Amino acid sequence: MKKITVIGTGYVGLVSGACFAEIGNRVICCDVDQRKIDLLNRNEIPIYEPGLQEMVTRNKEQGRLLFTTEVGEAIEASDIVYIAVGTPMSETGEADMRYVMSAARKIGEHLNGHKIIVNKSTVPVGTGELVREVVQANKKYPWIGFDIVSNPEFLREGSALSDCMNMDRAIIGSDNPEAASVIEELHAPFKTKVFKTDLESAEMIKYAANTFLATKISFINAIANICEKVGADVEDVAAGMGLDSRIGGKFLQAGIGYGGSCFPKDTYALAHIADKAGYEFELLKSVIRTNQKQRFVIMDKLREALGGLAGKQVAVLGLAFKPNTDDMREAPSLSIIPELLKLGATVRAYDPIAAEAASKLLPGDVQYAASAEQAVAGSDACVILTEWADVVSMDLAQIRESMKVPVVIDGRNCFDTAEMERRGFIYYSIGRRPVN
Ligand code: NAD
Repeated sequence: MKKITVIGTGYVGLVSGACFAEIGNRVICCDVDQRKIDLLNRNEIPIYEPGLQEMVTRNKEQGRLLFTTEVGEAIEASDIVYIAVGTPMSETGEADMRYVMSAARKIGEHLNGHKIIVNKSTVPVGTGELVREVVQANKKYPWIGFDIVSNPEFLREGSALSDCMNMDRAIIGSDNPEAASVIEELHAPFKTKVFKTDLESAEMIKYAANTFLATKISFINAIANICEKVGADVEDVAAGMGLDSRIGGKFLQAGIGYGGSCFPKDTYALAHIADKAGYEFELLKSVIRTNQKQRFVIMDKLREALGGLAGKQVAVLGLAFKPNTDDMREAPSLSIIPELLKLGATVRAYDPIAAEAASKLLPGDVQYAASAEQAVAGSDACVILTEWADVVSMDLAQIRESMKVPVVIDGRNCFDTAEMERRGFIYYSIGRRPVN
């Protein structure tokens, strides 16, 4: 049993804190956001993540998981302190490090005995050393020592619990083998592959992994755009490519591009890290540009199908950046819907989980429906932005019947092209060959 404090109780801090408790540790999750901690202390989960409620309740009841805003006290009560605060994109595109630095100062001020400080946030290379300096400079008792470890997080929202409990690798970076061994031991119950390296390489692994995945997405989207022009079908192309084990079939689904809290900011951050280091990362910059343009293929298809958008009613299905999350950070809907409104369309949107979060970020004149069917009724076109289960399984016969004009622009390739055409839809998807 280890005594762990996790600073930052967001998507990553809350899930990893709960999972560390689940494998038998005593965990304190702390946050400066009083509302979040109050909710958690009332056993309400501030984010949507399947299975999280049950895990949090179980571990709270068994006294292994605590929530507090007393960050200093939480630090003092543990031997291992995880930093899991946000590192959002700043205006320049760099990672905004103010939350990590404030956590580091707090750790220094409350270092009441030797601790291992573990960075789980995604941070620029060199942050481990920076955290070391800040902790050192803020220490109340100069004789107390500490170690720094980098242990980046790879969970995916929507499947975060199983990603964490069945993690396929743990990256542990440190210049002290003993500290690295303690963190390796902590991961033993997860029965995962552990890869140990130095601090800087561990920090770089996280950015390299995310930007590589983003590259795969932009690559297949570019191929999809060419497929449309030359009469090939991107799904067959991806399936054929994926048969090569050096390529692999995963992350080759064409669509409207990546969004969310990680890929957009991590691609920008690595481009900045490269610039600062004097390397022009042209490949990554075009991955970013390709992704920015990709979401607007929806607009081109709408214009092709409807002519102008003025006075048209458009149903938008799915607002979150992907299914099974309420996370709206960098969701394509946030740029597509304002564009639809600007061109004079009225928008009725549906999302089973993220509608409330979305309504705080989208213009006030967006209407919200209680179901996909309700959003679509009477519309001139339906645009699919997120492949939620109840969007994919909607009643197509009813949808077809209730639309004024049966135009479906499917940004996630959810439906079978032949079936949609047979049902009488004017169906557009991404990179796939129409049957007729
Ligand atoms: P988040 O915004 O959901 O949560 C961060 C939390 O930290 C917030 O609740 C905030 O109030 C709190 N916080 C900020 N400063 C604090 C301080 N000084 N003391 C205590 N709490 C503080 O962010 P997230 O999505 O959990 O991401 C955290 C980090 O993990 C980021 O670096 C992100 O890139 C990385 N990451 C995220 C994911 C993901 O899917 N969300 C996956 C892998 C890695």
